[in-house]
Amino acid sequence: MNTLLEVRNVSKAYKQVQAVNKVTFSIGSGESVGLVGESGSGKSTIARLILALDQADDGEIVLLGHPLNELKEKQLRNLRKHVQVIFQDPHSSLNPKLPIWKSIIEPLENFPEVTPEFLKDIRHSSRLMMERLIDMVGLSKRVLDCYPHELSGGQKQRVAIARGFSLQPSLLICDEPTASLDVSVQAQILNLLKEMQQTLGVAYLFISHDLPSVHYISNRILVMKQGCLVDQFDVKDMFSVERHPYTRQLVSSAMSLEY
Ligand code: ADP
Ligand code: MG
Repeated sequence: MNTLLEVRNVSKAYKQVQAVNKVTFSIGSGESVGLVGESGSGKSTIARLILALDQADDGEIVLLGHPLNELKEKQLRNLRKHVQVIFQDPHSSLNPKLPIWKSIIEPLENFPEVTPEFLKDIRHSSRLMMERLIDMVGLSKRVLDCYPHELSGGQKQRVAIARGFSLQPSLLICDEPTASLDVSVQAQILNLLKEMQQTLGVAYLFISHDLPSVHYISNRILVMKQGCLVDQFDVKDMFSVERHPYTRQLVSSAMSLEY
């Protein structure tokens, strides 16, 4: 398996808070990796550092063999197309003034040079591709001409997922993608994400404070606590006695919630 992403000894502080403290892990291509930890443990900071929305104080992030901090603006932009993100709140991640079809092709418009030939004429041929994407996420193509306020939270998150896949990224970061949704919709979105990962073979960094969701989606799990990565393991080893005490605490509280 090729290494897609390497996070090496990365730290990030905000004023007094050590949000991320010497974190090291890697993600192979096509791998589904979960990142779990309580609120404030530094999960979203990791996501922002990988997305180059923020800069690490220390350490190195290497994406497809390129250290992010050594890249020039244009190289960084080119590399960014390989990593897409789905955030927690679909309401704020979709522009309320744009019809859904425009939101879906937004990432493509940033990268005209990588947009497949048949999509270059956005007005005509890309409609077909948008219809394919919207169908893949389980929505009717009528949705393409709607505006965000006409859709439910679950539908909006499906649109955000379609957009996340539009550039055929190598890595999709999902940061608490179900946390703002009704409980009844959460399982549907989780199922969709799992199905798409398996069908399309994209690598995931699936971030959540909810261990059962992470366990369901991931092949491998990383556990964060107060900025530190305290444990990482294959899902099959989650119940092993070798797990870090904090992991065992998360596991047992998740189980007692379930039963
Ligand atoms: P998580 O996603 O696990 O809930 P975050 O990465 O959002 O955690 O935050 C980790 C810590 O860093 C928290 O204590 C948070 O308050 C702090 N933090 C995150 N972003 C900022 C910021 N932009 N300014 C100041 N503090 C921040
Ligand atoms: Mg977060």
